Amino acid sequence: VLQVRGLSKSFGANTVLRGIDLDVPRGKVVALIGPSGSGKTTILRSLNGLELPDAGSVTVGASGGTSTGVEPQRPSLTLDFDAKVSPKEVAALRDRSAMVFQHYNLFPHMTVLQNVIEGPVRVQKRPRAEVVAEADALLKRVGLFEKRDSYPFELSGGQQQRVGIVRALALKPQLLLFDEPTSALDPELVDDVLAVIKELADEGWTMVIVTHELAFARQTADEVVFMDGGVVVERGPASQVLRKPQEERTQQFIRRLL
Ligand code: ATP
Repeated sequence: VLQVRGLSKSFGANTVLRGIDLDVPRGKVVALIGPSGSGKTTILRSLNGLELPDAGSVTVGASGGTSTGVEPQRPSLTLDFDAKVSPKEVAALRDRSAMVFQHYNLFPHMTVLQNVIEGPVRVQKRPRAEVVAEADALLKRVGLFEKRDSYPFELSGGQQQRVGIVRALALKPQLLLFDEPTSALDPELVDDVLAVIKELADEGWTMVIVTHELAFARQTADEVVFMDGGVVVERGPASQVLRKPQEERTQQFIRRLL
């Protein structure tokens, strides 16, 4: 579903991504790991149209893998950042990927339900009644239907993040992006959120997850990609990269986290 080629990005003199290639077949989960500042968040933001790369390309919806039925079928979309990319293309990319943020990023002045339906109704222009029915079903699924009329400040961090996940799902994306979804949570709230993400993975959603939770990555990810200094240092099946890393830098990183 996702094909990234030669993605590069600098902020002034600081080169953050140096030609990243990434492939995520439909229904597969890739975990991005690596030290702070290695460029993981910048990749996700580039895939969600929040950052404009300097070079490379992103294709969403390329053929490959088998349809899992949970995501809508759409024609393939390619953004070529070597050429000029139009705001319309960026909007199309954003429409296909949905991001779950580290700090939830819920709208504070909106209720849980309003947060969930805002994108589908206002941006995607889907019928409100249909979107509300879907939102209610998703909120029930993560045990938050009773909170649909509450405001974010009335919820725990774990509940807010589950709303963040529901908000992403309500957009019916082809690709779910998670940026360290549990790193802002108190330890006792982490498991509930990870359980929801694991369930979505098992259900066949295509995902890229930036995480420091190595045990979770091992259970959930099909592939683990280790980045450092804006390049992919090592990639492979989760069990291999996490248990028997080949590269010295990967070994050091994993040793430090264990
Ligand atoms: P972390 O685990 O700490 O989130 P990361 O691997 O996700 O790290 P990024 O957030 O992608 O790393 O940041 C990579 C580098 O890019 C950092 O040096 C950061 O300071 C820089 N950077 C990110 N966004 C911007 C921006 N908007 N303007 C300037 N520099 C930025």
